[in-house]
Amino acid sequence: MSGESIYKRYKPAVAPEPVNSTLTYWFVFYANKLLIKVDNPKPGVTIPQVRNIEEMNIIPVRKQYLGTLQGQPCYTVEAASEDYIPEGMCYRKYGSLYGVLDDDIFLVAGKALQIVKWDQTHQYCGRCGVPTQMVQNERAKICPQCGLLSYPCLSPVVITAILKDNKILLVRHKILINNIYSLVAGFVEPGETLEEALKREVIEEVGIEVNNIKYFKSQPWPFPHSLMIGFTAEYESGEIIVDGVEVAEAEWFDVRHVQQLPLPVKNSIAWELIDWYICNNADKT
Ligand SMILES: [Zn+2]
Repeated sequence: MSGESIYKRYKPAVAPEPVNSTLTYWFVFYANKLLIKVDNPKPGVTIPQVRNIEEMNIIPVRKQYLGTLQGQPCYTVEAASEDYIPEGMCYRKYGSLYGVLDDDIFLVAGKALQIVKWDQTHQYCGRCGVPTQMVQNERAKICPQCGLLSYPCLSPVVITAILKDNKILLVRHKILINNIYSLVAGFVEPGETLEEALKREVIEEVGIEVNNIKYFKSQPWPFPHSLMIGFTAEYESGEIIVDGVEVAEAEWFDVRHVQQLPLPVKNSIAWELIDWYICNNADKT
């Protein structure tokens, strides 16, 4: 997922447009599970591609158009149940399909999951409880009674590589599995700039001040609807004091030690930031 933008191959849209393709990508979900097709027609895992979803005998509860991938229309669908599964297919948790599905399919599936969840959880107006209606040509719903508009929700998260004397600050979060070492990260709160959120999270989690904050890159993170915004920063002052709530341990590591630690999944933005540090400091151990 670290390569060029998917927008060279994927064109987002809300309403279907005429296309030449005879097949459609169907991102079919039940709960957080995606319907995948295994070993057919060639070895590998992909998602169903047929003209109409009815050909697979799946009854959609809801359906949203997503645009085209390589010129082929894409739809996200919520299935009525997982009791019926077409031959050669199965449902798998979306998060378990990283590195299993083609990168482009995985990325569009993340968008598909967020859109179908938004559709599912915004059936009624949050203010007056009246059934909402889709807005034409925009990914939004409107309440016919009070006019409240609802858009798909995104929760920005800042994540930062903090450097000091050619070392990087890595932390072990209490909630992360497999005891991996990662970076300070946290949700942006209403009213904050990204830089303010970063400084606040760093103080809260590890008790130090940072400066020279620089944007690195961003990454969609549909677990369930985050956008990860990566930064690099430099240590300014203070002693490490972990909060003990979110962070269990925090320590400065040099390149040699970092390479021996269990690290975040490859190509996640946390991994990319740590990899960036390793590449820039490999000759300084
Ligand atoms: Zn309303």
